[in-house]
Amino acid sequence: MEKKRKISIIGSTGSIGTQALEVIEKLQDKFEIIALAGGNNTELLTKQAEKFHPKYIYAAKPISVAGVKTLNSLDEIAQNKENDIILVACSGKIGLKPTLKAIENGIDIALANKETLVMAGDIVMQKAKECNVKIIPVDSEHCAIHQCIKDISQVDKLIITASGGPFLHKTVEEMKNATVTETLHHPRWNMGKKITVDSATLMNKGLEIIEAHHLFGFDYDNIEVVVHPQSIVHSAIEYKDGSVIAQLGLPSMHIPIQYAITYPERFEGIKSHSFSFAEIARLDFEKPDFEKFPTVKLAYHAGRLGGTATACLNAANEEAVFAFLDGKIKLYQIYEITKTMLEEHKLIKSPTIDEIFEVDAITREKTKKLIASIN
Ligand code: MG
Repeated sequence: MEKKRKISIIGSTGSIGTQALEVIEKLQDKFEIIALAGGNNTELLTKQAEKFHPKYIYAAKPISVAGVKTLNSLDEIAQNKENDIILVACSGKIGLKPTLKAIENGIDIALANKETLVMAGDIVMQKAKECNVKIIPVDSEHCAIHQCIKDISQVDKLIITASGGPFLHKTVEEMKNATVTETLHHPRWNMGKKITVDSATLMNKGLEIIEAHHLFGFDYDNIEVVVHPQSIVHSAIEYKDGSVIAQLGLPSMHIPIQYAITYPERFEGIKSHSFSFAEIARLDFEKPDFEKFPTVKLAYHAGRLGGTATACLNAANEEAVFAFLDGKIKLYQIYEITKTMLEEHKLIKSPTIDEIFEVDAITREKTKKLIASIN
């Protein structure tokens, strides 16, 4: 990059945000931080601001740091055309509106927030096309596919890998009685709580199928999931002629984060030059067990329904995950509750953003009621 790339991070205190700052620290001559935005962890955000000297900060709670201007909303970051790129690293629906606003302002997006595409993929991708904005995926699977694709029109199939989570080789019975601690013990990745539960039920893979559908414009019939416990092959694509291209690397989020924020260039990073096939020795693959992990099928179903179905799926699942983390329901009930909500959902085929947020709110309310009624 000839000039320093001007970047803002929405969600700088979360798992992706903190790792992004580690990448930026390593590549400090390549970046200038315009703004950092966090949620409630103002202590960490303050430390980050003192260390990285952004021009602006925003937090969900009042915050002030000497020499840094405090903003009143995420929109102020998204509208600031000083930005070359914004890393959307927050979790939840809060990422959607600022992402759309940034796209409207012609700012490229490094996207780590799944909800943006799961809730409103059609609108977001259409807007990105209209505004000629790049959306570079940070999610490791999609980042892998992004790296594999040379000519998308010649690609037949996307192959998304799944680690299988902590219950891959446990029985259905063991999974049904899983505690929160067992569920949060992911064998490969260290992530936030919500996504770790999603990885245990495999709903995370379900959401990623929907993400992939929007990002790459593929039919659900041409998106496949394969279990790969070592998490070395991050995903692959199959060309029309049968050639398969996969992206490999050690399971570290630093690599996809760095790829997304430096694209199309590459630099020596935190994890460079440490890959050894001989040390890894073997790579295993197996078919996902959709009976044990029915959430994947449910996500395919919601994806094929399209419209507001995926926003409903996302909202119901998230509320159910929170209830599980609170000890209110069992792990397998996350699927049952989400399925019920999807069955009861009144689909809007081509919704507006406001309709999507309405579906989100209504679904959450109904999901909470259902959870209260089964307790
Ligand atoms: Mg992923």
